[in-house]
Amino acid sequence: MTTTKALVCDGCGQEASAEHIARRLQRLEWTTRYRPVHINTLLLGAFSPQEERDFLYAPSGEFRGEAALLLDALGISTAGKTAEAVQAEFQRAGFFLTHVLECPLDTNAGQEAEAAALLTKRLETVATRIRRSLKPKRVVLISQALGPSLEKILTLELGCPMVLDNGKLFEFDSPEPENAVARLRKALAMEIAFTKGFARTSWNGTSGRSLAGHGEQSK
Ligand SMILES: [Zn+2]
Repeated sequence: MTTTKALVCDGCGQEASAEHIARRLQRLEWTTRYRPVHINTLLLGAFSPQEERDFLYAPSGEFRGEAALLLDALGISTAGKTAEAVQAEFQRAGFFLTHVLECPLDTNAGQEAEAAALLTKRLETVATRIRRSLKPKRVVLISQALGPSLEKILTLELGCPMVLDNGKLFEFDSPEPENAVARLRKALAMEIAFTKGFARTSWNGTSGRSLAGHGEQSK
């Protein structure tokens, strides 16, 4: 009596072995630990990295590959810090990283067309999760692999703006990810400058009124 019906993983939509599910739950647990209560910037990749050392939330804290590049772009140094300290700093800054497929791509599903189909199939689910659960202030797309789906992604209802660089996404998985690091650093610096400027304006407005008159003084 063999009724082995293939399970489908809820984190990625791929057919899943027990081992796959175990790995999924493990990554989910690591990730949840550092999820900010209020997510400021959601970094959205295509697939969770194959190697654990490239996965930002892994407790080993080797921070290679995608993890290293993201930390570099966001100005979070790892020198002399424990993995936990780095991950907590990432969390405190309001960053959260997730992927359209929250699991690595199965190596035997490695065909490009198949990968693209898996991504497309997950987009609505991911959009709902972003809109209803994660509720970030902005979303940054960090995978070249999302390029073919970009038009569709742009039509999704995410409930917040998407940060792009002249209409292009940030390609941390390209052969030259250094470009993406520099571009994201610049884009975020501009965004932050804008946000701060905006906050200052409205704060002055309020304090000006409480000082009754033209009491605005420059420090
Ligand atoms: Zn999965």
